[in-house]
Amino acid sequence: MKILIAEDDAISRRLLQKTLENAGYEVLAVENGRLAQEELCRPDGPRLALLDWEMPEVDGPAVCRAVRGRAEKSYVYMIFLTSKESSEDKVEGLRSGADDYLTKPFHPEELKARLRTGLRILRLEDRLVEAREDMRFKATHDSLTGLWNRGVIMDLLERELARAGRERHCTAILLCDVDHFKRVNDTYGHPVGDEVLRELAKRLLASVRSYDYVGRYGGEEFLVVLNNCDPASSSGRAEQMRDAVSKREFITQRGPLTITISVGLLRSLDWGPLSAEQYLDQVDSALYAAKAAGRNRVRTAESPADGVLPVAAKRLEKVRSR
Ligand code: GH3
Ligand code: MG
Ligand code: MG
Ligand code: MG
Repeated sequence: MKILIAEDDAISRRLLQKTLENAGYEVLAVENGRLAQEELCRPDGPRLALLDWEMPEVDGPAVCRAVRGRAEKSYVYMIFLTSKESSEDKVEGLRSGADDYLTKPFHPEELKARLRTGLRILRLEDRLVEAREDMRFKATHDSLTGLWNRGVIMDLLERELARAGRERHCTAILLCDVDHFKRVNDTYGHPVGDEVLRELAKRLLASVRSYDYVGRYGGEEFLVVLNNCDPASSSGRAEQMRDAVSKREFITQRGPLTITISVGLLRSLDWGPLSAEQYLDQVDSALYAAKAAGRNRVRTAESPADGVLPVAAKRLEKVRSR
């Protein structure tokens, strides 16, 4: 663990540095409060600090206040090490944002014990951050495929449509549905179906650019949003995705399987007033048409600019039973 020492007295600074280096710390020693503040406010700066109170340029309490006042990334554990020893000083020091307070001359064992307390707190913080990140990931991603989940992909689509409307660039919405997926489950079992969905997710992701969005819309349906795409090439890109699935067998625990998808596509430069759900109904109708035409194909919905299409009356469910 890296530790910052801020101490203007050169002899004390060197003594402290030696003590801490012998205890296994990586030490960064500075001689004034301004440097301490700069180091501690850096995104990857030290997270443990021993601060003198009286220092040139910026004093210890001001360093504490500055560190606590930054847009917090990770917690910095700060300990005062000072010759100011009245109760009022201790109260003021802790009130400025320090976590602990030690007076000079220090006892090396006590100092090391207090630092161990700081490390415990920092480890606790790390675990909390990790748990929060884990929860955030689970709340936004599909657990089987790791893609964006339905809620997030719909949010992203809504935002993208609003942006495309403002900036007048082309966006394409693709709904991809595995053909006869029920047969995969029925013939080879649900775990093999899961393998297919995971591999399909990988292939879809590999066939888009980093700023496009791919999400799991439902069971075996995937929603792809191509941002700022070339209107002329969007159906070609949909065909490439279809090829990426059908042209190479899926290797599963039950052997290689040929998988195909049907794709409904809607693209526009000029999104009208409909909601993302309403546009999705149009994409769904195009997907329905692809299924009805024999599957393993792409069908394009009429562009919203060509006139608002009647919202799909017949849902995909109708062909699902075929
Ligand atoms: P179509 O070509 O018309 O799309 O036929 P289909 O069989 O793919 O369509 P259908 O909607 O009848 O079946 C979809 C199946 O997907 C049914 C459901 O059990 C399966 N499914 C949904 N989610 C999962 C999942 O997470 N894992 C597995 N293994 N199967 C799933
Ligand atoms: Mg001093
Ligand atoms: Mg389906
Ligand atoms: Mg299907």
